[in-house]
Amino acid sequence: RLRSAALTDTLTGLPNRRFAMRRLQQAWESSSRTGQPLSIVMVDIDEFKRINDTAGHDAGDALLQTVAERLRGALRPGDLIARMGGDEFAVLLTRLPDAEALQPILMRITDQLHAPFSHAGRPLECRASIGVALYPDHGADDVALFKHADIALYHAKNNGRGRAILFQPHLLDSWERETAMLDRARHILSHEQPCPWYQPKISLQDGGIIGFEALFRCPVADGSVIMPGDIARAFEHPELGPALTERMVERV
Ligand code: GH3
Ligand code: MG
Repeated sequence: RLRSAALTDTLTGLPNRRFAMRRLQQAWESSSRTGQPLSIVMVDIDEFKRINDTAGHDAGDALLQTVAERLRGALRPGDLIARMGGDEFAVLLTRLPDAEALQPILMRITDQLHAPFSHAGRPLECRASIGVALYPDHGADDVALFKHADIALYHAKNNGRGRAILFQPHLLDSWERETAMLDRARHILSHEQPCPWYQPKISLQDGGIIGFEALFRCPVADGSVIMPGDIARAFEHPELGPALTERMVERV
């Protein structure tokens, strides 16, 4: 009983993250021997916090249980469905004849998850974003495959949500670029002194200076200057964006 409890999510009764990672590794070992395609599908509910905040934690819990049932309904018995934590689920597909077989499965998952849902007589919107990676096309091993499905999910979130995105190598490049921008912005906030560079606004009527724009610049020790474009993603980040704004306002 202890072993089963350690591998099961209590709210949904699904296998938990630890179990899923173990099964993914086994499935990859088997696929790497047989050449059978293997796919990992990461599902994250869109704006789930809002359901907790507006309809209550019980409604959130009920939705998580419904998502678990709906995933079960959309897939074949034997496909692994796990709750990875919070509002994130993973599906492991090991019996795919080929990559084309994925599309109808993803469509079924999306249709099921987006169906109307209500809790205590109150209708609630349920949407989900999905990221998918396929072996052997999208990763050499289970660790890469899992990471790449997660990156595809991240792109689904950043491109309007409510959609499924299949991993492609250029997503990794842009994810790495964005991660580097966020890291650079964090470094600036803790170690550097960004400062406004003032660009005058000139009146076309008389050539007089009628104001300034304060532009973000961050001179660093090697004599170079970090420009806004170098940390562009940070300005849209929910914590870094406001922190950078606050720092600039202080400096102005
Ligand atoms: P996004 O569209 O970007 O996914 O935003 P989101 O609001 O869904 O936020 P995110 O996926 O980052 O966070 C999931 C939230 O789920 C965070 C936490 O408050 C909530 N949560 C985690 N576990 C549980 C749970 O067991 N029950 C309930 N009701 N809520 C949970
Ligand atoms: Mg979410």
